[in-house]
Amino acid sequence: MNRRDFHKTCLMFGAGALTGTATHAGEQASGPSIETHREPARNLPVRNFDVVVAGGGTAGVVAALAAARQGAKTMLIERKGYTGGTVTEGGTALHSFFNLWQAFGVKKRQVVQGIPQTIVDRLMAVGGCSGHAEMLKGYEYDSVCTAVDVELYRLVTMEMLDEAGVFMALNTLLTDAIVERDRVRGVIAESRSGREAIYAKAFVDCTAYGDLAAFAGAKSSVPNDYASCNSIGLANVDLDRYFEYLKASGGSNQVAYGLRSGQPGKVVRFNGGLGGDFAKEAREIGMSSMITTVHDNYIMFVKCSYKVPGSVIDRDDMARAELEVRKRMAKAAELFRKYVPGCEKAFVARTSPSLCIRRGRLIACDYDITHEDVIEGRHLRRFVQHDQNRPVVGQDPTRPRTRSRP
Ligand SMILES: Cc1cc2nc3c(=O)[nH]c(=O)nc-3n(C[C@H](O)[C@H](O)[C@H](O)COP(=O)(O)OP(=O)(O)OC[C@H]3O[C@@H](n4cnc5c(N)ncnc54)[C@H](O)[C@@H]3O)c2cc1C
Repeated sequence: MNRRDFHKTCLMFGAGALTGTATHAGEQASGPSIETHREPARNLPVRNFDVVVAGGGTAGVVAALAAARQGAKTMLIERKGYTGGTVTEGGTALHSFFNLWQAFGVKKRQVVQGIPQTIVDRLMAVGGCSGHAEMLKGYEYDSVCTAVDVELYRLVTMEMLDEAGVFMALNTLLTDAIVERDRVRGVIAESRSGREAIYAKAFVDCTAYGDLAAFAGAKSSVPNDYASCNSIGLANVDLDRYFEYLKASGGSNQVAYGLRSGQPGKVVRFNGGLGGDFAKEAREIGMSSMITTVHDNYIMFVKCSYKVPGSVIDRDDMARAELEVRKRMAKAAELFRKYVPGCEKAFVARTSPSLCIRRGRLIACDYDITHEDVIEGRHLRRFVQHDQNRPVVGQDPTRPRTRSRP
């Protein structure tokens, strides 16, 4: 950096730029720099737990609750300021996790119960869930729609974790793994309180990106074979007028009735496609017309998809994708105002804080869950191991070991 560039940088970014970065002024963010900066070694404060759960989404909340309720001293590390993850940001419904009948050609059965069902019960009690609303039409993809109010989902799960005594490290990013002799001994986490090491006996990676496993050296790939998506919530709509209009013009090919604004038997999911120009313009922005809600006058879920060019674990590829999807979401709201009866004065009341992915890293696992495991609701209580003498990450060494899955 020459003298002129140096002064320019200081003027633009203030004193912080002097101390923190090796990036040259004017250098574009794209492409890795060949210049490196050696971080000085330092001692970190250590915390000790029995179980560390990384990521507080659907999986992490349940894992942390299960561990804490077994009496384990449990820490949940979540990079955002709330729990709930993708369900509260992109999905807004829990349908496929619980009930898999018509859509999968199996007999009617709720395959997920236990702690996840207690979350649904708690949500129902505060008006934050449609219940397991069975699809009366269009159950090829989902047998049931279990729509959730995303704000209440966050609150209820945080309350449950608090009640169970889980130490919630929110706004905390897991940045590395401490590996000793092929075992995860600890993790490194960073927050505004600083950088710290956390040791535990067991670790559960629920980051959806396989961050912890990858930091620990697990083999992984990033196929990027699904579109990423974000969803919006549209408020100030006349939902019943919209649905009646659809019925009058041929109906919706998806319908489920459940609890909405405290009233049972209300439509909570339908396909709101109108055809014509609406459909054409919707296709251009990857917008799905599948609608879910648990409130009157609110469309909780309108999805815009986008296949990220590049990699879903590349910061800069994702930054460009974030902008593209935000443009698509704004356009989606316009389409509703322009074409949909009852939505003339709709506005965007919710977006996801960041782009949701369908698939991040694929970790090479000792056992891959199969389609049959899922639709038969099989319990995978035992672990598969390549080496009998080497405990796998997270395994309780006191448990009997086995080579085969039941
Ligand atoms: C638009 C959309 C529609 C969907 N529809 C359906 C559907 O109809 N049926 C269905 O079954 N599934 C659906 N899904 C998928 C489903 O929502 C996800 O598979 C599920 O929510 C993933 O849960 P999870 O706990 O594995 O991950 P997530 O919920 O993504 O949780 C991961 C958590 O880890 C945190 N985290 C990540 N990295 C770090 C780190 N390094 N340090 C700390 N915290 C970290 C994240 O902030 C997040 O809270 C949909 C997804 C989307 C986006």
